Amino acid sequence: MHGAPSLLVQEPLPPEYAALTDAELAERTARAKAALGKDLVILGHHYQRDEVIRFADLRGDSLKLSRWAARQEDARYIVFCGVHFMAETADILTRPDQIVILPDLGAGCSMADMAAVEELETCWAELVKLYGDKLLPVTYINSSAAVKAFAGRRGGAVCTSSNAAAVTRWALARARAVLFLPDEHLGRNTAVKLGHSFDEMAVWDRGAEVLEPDPHGAAAGIDPERVRVILWNGYCSVHQRFGPEQVARIRERHPDVRVVVHPECRWEVTRLADAVGSTEFIIETVTASPPGSKWAVGTEINLVNRLAQENPDKLVMTLDEIVCPCVTMYRISPQHLLWTLENLLAGRVVNRIQVPEDIAADARAALDRMLTIA
Ligand code: SF4
Repeated sequence: MHGAPSLLVQEPLPPEYAALTDAELAERTARAKAALGKDLVILGHHYQRDEVIRFADLRGDSLKLSRWAARQEDARYIVFCGVHFMAETADILTRPDQIVILPDLGAGCSMADMAAVEELETCWAELVKLYGDKLLPVTYINSSAAVKAFAGRRGGAVCTSSNAAAVTRWALARARAVLFLPDEHLGRNTAVKLGHSFDEMAVWDRGAEVLEPDPHGAAAGIDPERVRVILWNGYCSVHQRFGPEQVARIRERHPDVRVVVHPECRWEVTRLADAVGSTEFIIETVTASPPGSKWAVGTEINLVNRLAQENPDKLVMTLDEIVCPCVTMYRISPQHLLWTLENLLAGRVVNRIQVPEDIAADARAALDRMLTIA
């Protein structure tokens, strides 16, 4: 099989949930949460909508949330309002008796789904022909547990958007070449940051199953003596939307604006931005800026809108005028959250995310390696 991983199937919610008003949903959710008490922790990713995130005990990016969950000694249930790979990571990092739940099983991540482990095996076999055992995988945390386990088994590591440079530098110090997956743009931005030229990069085309020179470079053909960073051609459907023309347009309208973008954006965008960094970095940068600052932000719209609300003394706007929510995150609705909690109250666990122990052990090795590096 060479396609994307099949999505888990979410059972339809009982019709009564669709009939609830916003006020009823909020009231019942608050009541269920209070009744579950310290047995329950609700985690909310920054990209969640307001109606969901207001019930979160902690907001953050995926790693911050999972590490925090692992420290919650009392919590039996960890309801992760995020996407599938995040719930998997939380399950890997928490105790076996703690139960991780994803309120809607259809909440995947289009980027993580672009790297199936079977496709990765094919790619790896081709790269081994060029590099032998002088090759290491670095997988972005936005990947399935199976892909993290693949990296762990081969001595590689996981990275986040905050520590991608440190982890990639570590890997390049130990191997002739690094396969960076699944985000081509984060991989390219990281390699540029580390001082590598485009001629030292190549792109694995997962559809055609061929290795191509980086389209930004001048090199023809692949010379393993020269190419050190191999980029898997996956991307985030939210961040890939941003283009250099949007940066030019916003600067024309607001000459004093500063542009901050996520490193999942294309290199053509990151090179024009004033600052590039993770969601946590974006939040800290905007929050710490002086009153009157103007920011154009290149990331998911729910986060941008919340930043604008929480910084009324600044002008915070999206870089993309056409709203771009993460549609899979958006699947976590207030109705799904309530359904999950009310089932727990009734003694039923729905939508448990459980990574098989053999995969979890290898994935944990890749995560632990990251934590020792950065
Ligand atoms: S914003 Fe992009 S990378 Fe993040 S969960 Fe959504 S699709 Fe995946």
